Order: sequence, then structure tokens, then C-alpha cells
Amino acid sequence: MLFVYSVFCSIGTQSKKSMRSYILAESNWKDLREEQIQIAILPWGATEAHNYHLPYATDNFEAESIAAEAARLAWEKGVKAMVLPTVPFGVNTGQDDIAFCMNLNPSTQLAILRDLITVLDRQGVHKLLVVNGHGGNEFKPLLRQLGLEFPRMFLVMTNFFQIGNRSDFFEEKGDHADKMETSLLLHLRPELVRPLEEAGPGTEKRSKIRGIREGWAWSERKWSQVSADTGIGNPKKATSEKGEKYFNDVSGKLGQLIVDLAAVDINDRYE
Ligand SMILES: [Zn+2]
Repeated sequence: MLFVYSVFCSIGTQSKKSMRSYILAESNWKDLREEQIQIAILPWGATEAHNYHLPYATDNFEAESIAAEAARLAWEKGVKAMVLPTVPFGVNTGQDDIAFCMNLNPSTQLAILRDLITVLDRQGVHKLLVVNGHGGNEFKPLLRQLGLEFPRMFLVMTNFFQIGNRSDFFEEKGDHADKMETSLLLHLRPELVRPLEEAGPGTEKRSKIRGIREGWAWSERKWSQVSADTGIGNPKKATSEKGEKYFNDVSGKLGQLIVDLAAVDINDRYE
């Protein structure tokens, strides 16, 4: 019943106004108490400056929209996936002197994940996919630790910006408020993007330390030193068309991942 309803509602313009059965925030207990959800999806973003032209919730809009579209595609293939509300704060330890860059420490993220996984584990939803939208969030060590604590859980994460080959869509390099993120926001939330002539160039200063420059040594970037406008990567040639193509590519691949995760036997996942 739910499946039929959802497919019906995803056709035509109704879809934007109807309840989406795969989005927890839009669901109700009447439908959900009878439902067997196979996999929970947790979008996780950040609240931070994105050059002069993109909104603070850029990473949240990205992770949430891509997760929702992927879940819709999976639902159309009969997979009962449920997208949890997006966690809007990320690790922003390197932006402590930039206004309203809100920070959750990794240890806080571990505590949040542990509490949410406790609920899922107790209720028999043993698959969780974290869809990350922010480079400072590093979920691998957290999921390693929680995997030991919750042996019945299958914990998976993906960084949406590493799904698919970004350079097929965007020539210029960048990783923050760049052409990719600006194109995505022009597609997803154009009303929140300031005119691109107001954007800074997103120039990244080079480290004075050779090992860090070459990428084989690492230190967290001090954001107020590395970029004058908080951007890394030139956003000037961004377009909503490029954003839409990239969005569809990434969402399609993520949708297939959800289908594959739902199908796999947790105790027999190698061939
Ligand atoms: Zn971002």
C-alpha cells in the first residue's frame, strides 16, 4: 500500500506537495508501525560559511536532497529505506574564528551516533547508511568503534562528494563552495545563492611545508589563513544545469547502493 502510494505520488507535480513515505520527518506512526524498514539513512552536514555567495546550510541541503532522491529511487525498486532528519552540525574545528561556523567535536558525533544506533538496533533495523556532506566529518573511525559495540549492525558511510567522478562534471579543482557546490545549490536552492559576481575567487593558499603541499603529510587547515573568502575553488562558472546533471548522477549511484545494501545478508556479504 505504501509502495503504491509513493510511486503514485512521485509521478508528476504532485510529488512535491505529497508526503514522502521514505522521509521520516514527513511520515506518521499510523503507516510506520506496520512497516518493515530495511535500512535507515542518516544525512549529516555542517553549518558553516561557504564563500560570500552560498548559505551556511549548503552541506545540509546537499546531503539531505541527495539522500532523499536516492531513497526515492530505491523505494521505486521496492526497497523500504527511511531517511532520518539531517544532523545539521559537523566538525568545524578549523573555523573557530569564523562567525557562526558551528562545531560538533568528533567525540560528540560518536555519542550522537551511538544513541541513534541504539534505537535502530533495538528495533531491528540493522542497516544504517550515513550520507556525509562535509569534508570535516570523518565517520570511518566512529563506525569502526560502533561496529564493535553493535555487532548486529551493518554500518556504512559514504561522502556524497566522492560518489562518481566529479571531474567528469567540473574541470576546476576545489573542495569548498567551489564550482560543484555552487552548481548543486543553483539547482537545489537557487533562491539562496547570491549573484556569482559577488562571490570571491576561492583561492587556496599553499602550505609552506612541502610534505603537506604534496599531500603525504596532513595538518588541519586553519581556514582563516588558507582562504580569504572561506571558499576553496573558483565558483564563477557554476550553472544549475551542471548541478542538476551531477545531482542526478550522484543520486542514481547512491540509490543503487541503497538497493544493494538492503538486499545483502549481513552475515554473508562477500563473494
Ligand atoms: Zn560545503
